[in-house]
Amino acid sequence: MPGSLRILVSACLSGQRVRYNGGHKLAAGLMRALATPFSLLAVRHSRFSAEFSCLDFAPKLIHVCPETECGLGTPREPMRLEGDAACPKVVAVNSRRDMTEPLRAQVRGRILALGRNPPDAAILKKGSPSCGVQGTPVFSGPGDEIVSPGSGVFALALRRAFPFAPLAQESDLEAFGALETFLLRTALARAWRHAVNSGGETLARFHFTHARALLAAFGAGADEFVRDFPHMNPMERLSRFSALLACPLSF
Ligand code: SF4
Repeated sequence: MPGSLRILVSACLSGQRVRYNGGHKLAAGLMRALATPFSLLAVRHSRFSAEFSCLDFAPKLIHVCPETECGLGTPREPMRLEGDAACPKVVAVNSRRDMTEPLRAQVRGRILALGRNPPDAAILKKGSPSCGVQGTPVFSGPGDEIVSPGSGVFALALRRAFPFAPLAQESDLEAFGALETFLLRTALARAWRHAVNSGGETLARFHFTHARALLAAFGAGADEFVRDFPHMNPMERLSRFSALLACPLSF
């Protein structure tokens, strides 16, 4: 599995002026850290750069802005999520135009194109009706009532299409050591996909080959995974690894 990790990044986080108001949300510290090889960044986890060759290099970033790629100009009318949090609509705030279908169609095309060379992870903008991974407000209708927190349409589609690609919002990565843990999880998830595709001995020994990395990346939650792994059936393995990937980054 040669080559650097491939990470999707919301374009506004890298400083591109693609937001509805014509601005950006440059996450300067995060972008600097992502340009740094893991061996320099990861004080706590540096021993794992020998285990995962992809960590020898800074990740390759793929910048994505679902809204401008959908043909919406910059600046544009702000949008928000409304309705059912499991399948929300995207509605323009002032004109009340329903933008759900055009946005979903664009996202489907993007996901299809990504499927030829899937991303290893994604770092997306918090709170966006397109990019927000979790906690994006979902309104009941045109008023101010929030029914629940939800996910943006792009984040939802990514999670369904690439369930073993870790997703984070920029705010998840602010805590000390969170980014290096996220990158270690990403390397593990890539190794996991490789093991599942290879099957046989590679998969049977996954828990053994990567036991120390699993514990470093997931804390105590990985103890039981490593212990139970040899006795799990294939479906349990998938669902238990998927549950590990959903664990908070700070533990
Ligand atoms: S759609 Fe995503 S990338 Fe584009 S401006 Fe909104 S949050 Fe940023």
